[in-house]
Amino acid sequence: MLELQHVSAHYGPIQALAEVDLVVRAGEIVTLIGANGAGKSTLMTTLFGTPRASSGRILLEGEDITALPPHRIARRGMALVPEGRRVFAKMSVYENLLLGATPLDGAHVEENLRRVFSLFPVLETRRAQRAGTLSGGEQQMLAIGRALMSEPRLLLLDEPSLGLAPLVIRTIFRTIVALNREHGLTILLVEQNARQALKIAHRGYVLQNGRIVLEGSGAALLADSQVRAAYLDAA
Ligand code: ATP
Repeated sequence: MLELQHVSAHYGPIQALAEVDLVVRAGEIVTLIGANGAGKSTLMTTLFGTPRASSGRILLEGEDITALPPHRIARRGMALVPEGRRVFAKMSVYENLLLGATPLDGAHVEENLRRVFSLFPVLETRRAQRAGTLSGGEQQMLAIGRALMSEPRLLLLDEPSLGLAPLVIRTIFRTIVALNREHGLTILLVEQNARQALKIAHRGYVLQNGRIVLEGSGAALLADSQVRAAYLDAA
């Protein structure tokens, strides 16, 4: 579904991604782990062209999207839930959700809203409430719900568990599994919480200084001594 071929990306003189090869197949949950500053968020945003890949190619369902503007990419069925959630604090839950809907599919808005509310009933209860007054976990649900409003087939999640309490993290991970198994979404997940993220992943990649240094099944990476030492033992 998604393929990165030798993708590099820079911020001015700083190289954030170096020749990254990564594949996400339809129906998979793929987890990307790595230390702070390894380039995980850059990988996610480069898929939408900020920063643009300085070399290499990005293919979405076989089509080259490397040079497409972000709104055209979003229309092709890929949605990003950014790190830090980025909900609009002063707008209501309902308004935040509407912002996720693509203008072209007006007819589906009600249907998509119903789907989001059935996945996250708390958002329906709080639909008129300002997003800034929600708890961290509810804001994360809202950020995911907003992304789902564009009916993506591929969902990119950047650190969805960041800063949340353990119980809420479990809910978020359960939701990710349900989106994959029950709703058929393909998922690329970036996580600091490597253990839980690899547990739910079909496959995973380890990013270090902008390079993929290891890849394998979720189970294989969980058992790998390098991964254990660098990302699991301290967690
Ligand atoms: P974190 O988990 O801390 O978000 P990360 O793995 O997502 O880390 P990135 O945020 O992608 O890493 O950063 C990769 C590299 O690019 C780092 O060296 C970082 O300092 C640099 N970088 C990130 N954003 C910018 C920017 N806007 N301008 C300049 N350099 C940046």
